[in-house]
Amino acid sequence: MAAVIDVELRAGRGDLHRLASASTHCLFPNILKDLSRITAAGAAMEFLRRVLPQEQPAPLMFATTLELLIRLDEREVGAGLLVSFRSRIMALMGWTPMLHHCVRCHKTAPAERPAWFDPNHGGLVCRACGGGSVLVAASTRQRLNEAFKPTWASQPPWTSQEEHEADIAISKFVDARIGTQKPSQAEKSDPGRRFR
Ligand SMILES: [Zn+2]
Repeated sequence: MAAVIDVELRAGRGDLHRLASASTHCLFPNILKDLSRITAAGAAMEFLRRVLPQEQPAPLMFATTLELLIRLDEREVGAGLLVSFRSRIMALMGWTPMLHHCVRCHKTAPAERPAWFDPNHGGLVCRACGGGSVLVAASTRQRLNEAFKPTWASQPPWTSQEEHEADIAISKFVDARIGTQKPSQAEKSDPGRRFR
């Protein structure tokens, strides 16, 4: 059974902590009934382990994760749900890619046409400025821009193309921002520095 558990840890020697108490906070009995929901929940936890700094409170990320688990418990994994979740978490960390205009010359991307996304520059880069490595359709950019907002989980189902493009763009963006390293406290307190 999937559950959120309140645990009380007492600091021990080095990285080891002692479990002082544990109690169940809420249960998600339906997640373990379906392989796709188990996989989605597991992928979400793995993503959080990768991007969140250790041993620092992250109440907004926690609330967002609870929202994901509630959705997964209520119904099957909707198209775009996981990539929306990852996008929202990145936005909460201060890492929202710029999908409206070119990050170099600030030219607005054509509303109806695909545009190049450069994960290393954190946004769109127009052809004249060199382009990017991921071509993202206008509708996918719109989906992602909605996913950065608090209403990330309330979007209508994504098309498979939107989900596929967004997954590639966000995965490469996460790799570029995080790599294999977790953000240091200094970077977390000043997320903008990563774009300079
Ligand atoms: Zn440009």
